[in-house]
Amino acid sequence: MKSLPYFCRGEVVRGFGRGSKELGIPTANFPDSVVDNLPADISTGIYYGWACIGNGDVYKMVISIGWNPYYKNTKKSMETHVIHKFKEDFYGQTLSVVLVGYIRSEKSFPSLEDLIAAINSDIEEAKVKLELPEHIKLKEDNFFTSTTNSSPVSSSSAASTSQSIINGH
Ligand code: ADP
Ligand code: MG
Repeated sequence: MKSLPYFCRGEVVRGFGRGSKELGIPTANFPDSVVDNLPADISTGIYYGWACIGNGDVYKMVISIGWNPYYKNTKKSMETHVIHKFKEDFYGQTLSVVLVGYIRSEKSFPSLEDLIAAINSDIEEAKVKLELPEHIKLKEDNFFTSTTNSSPVSSSSAASTSQSIINGH
């Protein structure tokens, strides 16, 4: 995917109460404006990357990009699970993310246990892959320190020479 790494940010909005938090895997939802800006080559599925809330620390994350059943599958959604235990919810705050790599396509699972097991395995894969030197570099990207301007932005790797080099093209 030529658009990786892909940087974007937006306000955390309410999801559709699918009980992600009750499963121990809360997912912070982006508004439609962020989802609608996704480049065409970023296909649906699960990705790993880095995330930060407001001007806070940068943490590892997994993000699911998929078709939202609430809108009869006409609308894509982007849901980020930040791999960190937060004391409080952060609805209304700015979530900044960089999608670094692709883990797998979307699929349905025979049971809730299977779904949870798959997500936990995605989280483990993210933790390991993000330790690669070229991925750790993105954690330090200026993008994460420039959130004082909290207006939503998105950009693909083409915007930055250094990211293009990482991508190898
Ligand atoms: P919703 O359906 O509103 O998205 P969730 O059960 O998915 O509800 O919970 C998501 C919310 O939980 C986020 O919007 C955020 O405010 C909060 N939250 C707390 N910890 C995390 C985390 N580690 N990753 C993502 N969201 C978190
Ligand atoms: Mg959610």
